[in-house]
Amino acid sequence: MQKPSNMSEITSVFKPFLEPKEVYQGGKNIPHGNQKIYKLSSNENPLGASPMAVEAVKKVADDLSLYPDQTDIRLRHALVHDFNGALTEDQFICGNSGSEIIDMVLRAFINEGDEVIYSNPCFLPYSVFSRWYGATQVDVPLTQPNYDLDVEGILKAITPKTKVIFLTSPNNPTGTYIPKPVLDDFFNRVPKNIVVVLDEVYRHFAHAEDYVTALPYVAAEHPVIAVNSFSKTYGLAGQRIGYCYTTKTIANYLRQIHKPFLLPITSIEAGIGALNDTDFITETVNTVLAGRKMLSAEFDKLGITYWPTEANFFIIDPPYPEFEFADKLMQYGIMVRPVSQFGAPGKVRISIGDKEANLALIHALKQIMPA
Ligand SMILES: *Cc1c(COP(=O)(O)O)cnc(C)c1O
Repeated sequence: MQKPSNMSEITSVFKPFLEPKEVYQGGKNIPHGNQKIYKLSSNENPLGASPMAVEAVKKVADDLSLYPDQTDIRLRHALVHDFNGALTEDQFICGNSGSEIIDMVLRAFINEGDEVIYSNPCFLPYSVFSRWYGATQVDVPLTQPNYDLDVEGILKAITPKTKVIFLTSPNNPTGTYIPKPVLDDFFNRVPKNIVVVLDEVYRHFAHAEDYVTALPYVAAEHPVIAVNSFSKTYGLAGQRIGYCYTTKTIANYLRQIHKPFLLPITSIEAGIGALNDTDFITETVNTVLAGRKMLSAEFDKLGITYWPTEANFFIIDPPYPEFEFADKLMQYGIMVRPVSQFGAPGKVRISIGDKEANLALIHALKQIMPA
């Protein structure tokens, strides 16, 4: 048998900042078995997928031999309509998930040694994907005890090498949001040669009076990119569709690295179907708001420490070590997500389900709460 070639020869071409280490592990999938499982671990839509999106995918199944639209222009037109004409078609960039948009932004702006700022606890891909491009990662944690954005800390952390700053509102895994006065102040003071990514994939669930999306900042020509996804509100996590909107200047730059035919024909149709499915969006938001109210009242009764949330999930401080708590709930068929990995040691994230799932969660919590 031939001897394997000397490993060090091939590893010498590996990028030094890509040395193998742990990789992102998403929420667990549902285990097989007889017990009814309530998956409250991945912030998926408790009502399933938009029926109009599903219908649109079925309809296009006969056309899978054809290349999709090279430019996804029909989906972008549907987005313009969804934003009531506040943005134009050339301000949208579509991709195969919100995560892919995050990757695209980093690929477009980061050279090895550039700095990226984010605020833990936050969505893990900001750091994981930054590493792929050799970025130096700068964590300016949210402040305790309320997980507020540390605007002063972020502004102080900026150096000439800072290229991208990630903000998330509502934030995953905390459910907290950035109030308008705080964002106004931030945008007034952040240098204009830094790209600010505002991840707003949970925006439909934010009902606080002073909640704001990136829209006014894009309109005011701040260099901001608003990340959106079809995975949560539209129930299309499995189809992988996302988009961002930004200024024309930034969008035209990003389009340089946008592959032709990037979006599958099924994604284009599903996206258009979901955007038209206004009844489903309303029902989804109402389900989440009702679940939010019910669960916070029950958490209060049970004495569970939780943070007020503007998203479709709660972060809680469980009465047991996080993995023990998750295992105990799993015995009742409830899957939740320990979020140490997201920079929230000891905490657990619980997605808001439909009424049945929420009641099952409360029932399980009552059984396992220490006396
Ligand atoms: C879920 C999520 C996304 C995007 O998810 P995709 O499924 O990749 O579209 C982006 N940001 C945050 C904070 C999320 O929680």
